[in-house]
Amino acid sequence: MVVDRKPLNWWERSYLPAIAGGFRVTWRHFANTVFRRKSVTMQYPEEKWVMPEGYRGAPYLVSDVDGHTKCVSCQLCEFICPPKAILITPPGPAGMAADRPNAEKMPREFEINMLRCIFCGLCQEVCPEEAIFLQKDYSLTGLARGEMIYNKEKLLKLGGVDTGIQKWKQKLDEAREQEVFPVQGSAS
Ligand code: SF4
Ligand code: SF4
Repeated sequence: MVVDRKPLNWWERSYLPAIAGGFRVTWRHFANTVFRRKSVTMQYPEEKWVMPEGYRGAPYLVSDVDGHTKCVSCQLCEFICPPKAILITPPGPAGMAADRPNAEKMPREFEINMLRCIFCGLCQEVCPEEAIFLQKDYSLTGLARGEMIYNKEKLLKLGGVDTGIQKWKQKLDEAREQEVFPVQGSAS
């Protein structure tokens, strides 16, 4: 589809509409603060935003309900990550086994460079084990660049136990339906 990009007219090129729009916002906040006693600022960091449902903040690893590592070191998230923020060290042939049944391995180390991460969510989308989720943290700070590289231990601690999201549940239900032949809903 070709997008029609209209050139600015002389009135828009004068910047006056944009300036007037800016003053309108300022005046609205001024009026709300003075006349309605409705503050538009907050005393951060003592007061913090309550992030809406679905907000995508920093990605952390999660453990299952028994405290086992869900990540199986498949490295899909590492390959998909656009800014190359993830660095996984697999266990290797003689490395330690997974700490849970039904898993072949788990990462020896798993690092996310939060200075690079753009909170895009692709790692969460691609993960076959539901092991990494974007959570609600938006304010990540450190005194040195090294502190912003979160290791496996820190990611698991921050991620906590399984978030309860079952992103593959729908796929599983669909797969179960297809075990019956003819497939339900298919054309006869
Ligand atoms: S959220 Fe995006 S940028 Fe951040 S680690 Fe995941 S894939 Fe990489
Ligand atoms: S977090 Fe998920 S996608 Fe990334 S290595 Fe672990 S299991 Fe694979």
